[in-house]
Amino acid sequence: MNLELRCITERRLMKNNRYDTIVIGGGPAGQRAALELARHGVRTAIVESRAALGGTCLHEGTIPSKALRTAIIIMSNWRYRKLVGQDQRPLSRLDGSRLLEQVDRVIEKELQVIQDLMERNNIDLVRGRAGFTGTNTIRLDDQGIELEADSFILAAGSVGRKLDWVPYDGTRVIDSDSIYAVVDPLPGSMTIVGTGVVGMEYAMMLALAGVKVHMVGSSGTALGFVDQELVRTCLDELEFLGGQFHPNCKVRSVEAHENSAVVHMDSGESIESEIAMFSVGRQASTADMSLEAAGVETDDRGVVIADSMCRTSAPNIYAAGDIIGPPSLASTSREQGRLAALSLLGLPAKSMDERFIPYGIYTIPEMAWVGKRGGDGSGLVTGRAMYKHLAKGEMLGEDRGFIKLSFDPDTRVLLGAGAVGTDAAELIHVAKLLVEMQATLDDLLAQVFNYPTLAEAYKVAAMDAEAALR
Ligand SMILES: Cc1cc2nc3c(=O)[nH]c(=O)nc-3n(C[C@H](O)[C@H](O)[C@H](O)COP(=O)(O)OP(=O)(O)OC[C@H]3O[C@@H](n4cnc5c(N)ncnc54)[C@H](O)[C@@H]3O)c2cc1C
Repeated sequence: MNLELRCITERRLMKNNRYDTIVIGGGPAGQRAALELARHGVRTAIVESRAALGGTCLHEGTIPSKALRTAIIIMSNWRYRKLVGQDQRPLSRLDGSRLLEQVDRVIEKELQVIQDLMERNNIDLVRGRAGFTGTNTIRLDDQGIELEADSFILAAGSVGRKLDWVPYDGTRVIDSDSIYAVVDPLPGSMTIVGTGVVGMEYAMMLALAGVKVHMVGSSGTALGFVDQELVRTCLDELEFLGGQFHPNCKVRSVEAHENSAVVHMDSGESIESEIAMFSVGRQASTADMSLEAAGVETDDRGVVIADSMCRTSAPNIYAAGDIIGPPSLASTSREQGRLAALSLLGLPAKSMDERFIPYGIYTIPEMAWVGKRGGDGSGLVTGRAMYKHLAKGEMLGEDRGFIKLSFDPDTRVLLGAGAVGTDAAELIHVAKLLVEMQATLDDLLAQVFNYPTLAEAYKVAAMDAEAALR
C-alpha cells in the first residue's frame, strides 16, 4: 500500500517558500480549511509531519476504527444473528488478517480521494513538523527549512494521552493509537483501561470478534456524559458477548510479561490478559509547536484558545479541530476548518451551534443523540419506541434498540432525542433537523414515514409522548 505523501519537491519549495496561508496538519480540519482557502484563490500549503495525509482520523481514529467495526459486524453476522439461529456469544475468534485487509482497503481508498482533491485544488503538500519562529514564519524541524506566510491555520489535532507510569511497549502494553499492531492475530484476551468513547467502542467490537475483554473504569459507569439508558443497553450487550465491565476500579500499576500483561488495582485485585490497552483521553498536539513565538495562547492543558469563529489570540492565526478541544470529532473538525478559512478571509459565516450537533458512538449496538436529554429531573416529557415493536425491527431481529424523544411539556416542542440500536447514528439526523427547526409533537404526529422502516419509530415515540401528556 502506498501511503506516501505526494510532496512538492524541495527545489520548488526552496525557490518559492512563501504562501498566502499555511495550514499546519493534514487531518479533516486542515484539509477542509485548505480546500476552502484554495477555492477562494488563496495560495495555500498544508504542512504535515506524517508520511501521508489524513491525520488521526484516517490512520488511527475514525476511519480505521469504523472500518474494523464494520468488518467485525459483517464477518460475525451480528446484525442478523437472531434470524440465522446464532443467538449466542461468539465461539471463536475472527481472522485478524482478513479484518486488517478490510481496514487497509478503506484507508487506501480514502487517502486516494483526499490526495486527488488536494491536487485538483492546487494545494501544495509539504512534509515536515512545523514549529513557529515568529508570527509569520515556521521552521520544519527535521529539514531546517523556513516557510513564510501572511496567515496560518493550526490544525495539528491531538494524540492519545500517555500516562507516565505505564510501561508502553507496543505489544503487551499499548495505547489505543497502537491497536492495529496487535490485531493480527487477534489476542485471546485484552484488558481495556478507560471507559470513554474510544475504550468502549474497542471493548465492544473486540468482544464481538471473539476476544475476552475486560473493561476497567474508575467510576461507577461507562460514558458518564451520555444518557445512561443508552449506555446500559450497550453494557448489557457487552456482557452478552462475554465481556466484563469492572467499574470503580482505580488502576495502580501494570506489568508486561513475555506472554501477558497484568493490571493491578488499588483494591488489590489484578487482571491478567494477553494485552493491556490504555485509552485515557487525548491531548492537543501543541507541545513542540513553539506557539509562544507566534503569540498564540493555550490553556493549562495545551489546548489552543479559540473563539467560536476559530480566531486565536494572534490576529493572523486561526485554529480548528482537536487542537482547540471538545467536541473533538472528525465531523465538527471539518466544519471548524471551513469556519477558520472563512474567518481568515473575512467572509460571512455562521458559527457552529453546539445545541444541534449530532453525536454518534459506534458501540455495538451504536448510540446517538442530539439536543436536551429527557428523564428524571429534566422536566421534559419523553416518549419511546422500541425497535422490536416495529415491523421492521421484528424483521431485523432487533431486540434491544429504541428511540427516545423529549418534549417541552408546555410548548410541545421537540428538544432532544436519543437512540440506540441499528442505524442509530443515521436515524438521529431526522431528530437533528426536527430539533433545530423547533418541530412540535403535533408536527411529528402528522408525518407519514415509509413503512416498514426504523424511522417510523419517530412517530411511534411521539404517540407515546402524547399519551404521557394526556
Ligand atoms: C479511535 C478513535 C475513533 C474516533 N472515532 C470518531 C468517529 O467515529 N467520529 C468522529 O467524528 N470522530 C472520531 N474520532 C475523532 C477524530 O478522529 C478527530 O476528532 C479528528 O481526527 C480531528 O481532526 P483534526 O484535523 O483536528 O486532527 P488530526 O486528525 O489529528 O490531524 C492532525 C494532523 O496534524 C499533524 N501534525 C501534528 N503536529 C504537527 C506539526 N507540528 N507539524 C505538521 N503536522 C503536524 C498530525 O500528524 C496529523 O496528521 C475518533 C478518534 C479516535 C482516536
